[in-house]
Amino acid sequence: MTIERTFSILKPDATRRNIIGKINAKIEAAGLRIIAQKRLQLSLAQAQAFYAVHAERAFFGELCQFMISGPVVVQTLEGDDAVAKYRDIMGATNPANAKEGTIRQEFAESIEANSVHGSDSLENAAKEIAFFFSNLEIVS
Ligand code: ADP
Ligand code: MG
Repeated sequence: MTIERTFSILKPDATRRNIIGKINAKIEAAGLRIIAQKRLQLSLAQAQAFYAVHAERAFFGELCQFMISGPVVVQTLEGDDAVAKYRDIMGATNPANAKEGTIRQEFAESIEANSVHGSDSLENAAKEIAFFFSNLEIVS
């Protein structure tokens, strides 16, 4: 096992329902440490830049509008195999397919309003962390 860092967003459906603490409890129970965290209101330009990889997808416009519909909480998580571990506890993109006990199974409202984002690779994790945090803001 390797200590890794991954990037997480608690999405506007989660801040709206005031369930940041409930989601953070699941992150910590899985052995991941929240080593950086801040609450932000994304601009449309930031949402579009962050999700640029999905620019050609049919849901891109709606996804960006959803991501700016309220505040988000961005996080850097650290722990053993953090990238895969966080994807595991997040559950499937569509909550209808998410396994019992996963964050999305318990909290997601829909395939779009699915409560959390997590990096899909170590390489993307490093890029996404750098998009939102300076090194000074991350404390292991
Ligand atoms: P994940 O967040 O599980 O990595 P993707 O990277 O495929 O999933 O998609 C990014 C985000 O776009 C999803 O978390 C979800 O909010 C939204 N999304 C994905 N697929 C759809 C869809 N078919 N319709 C609406 N929104 C979607
Ligand atoms: Mg993804």
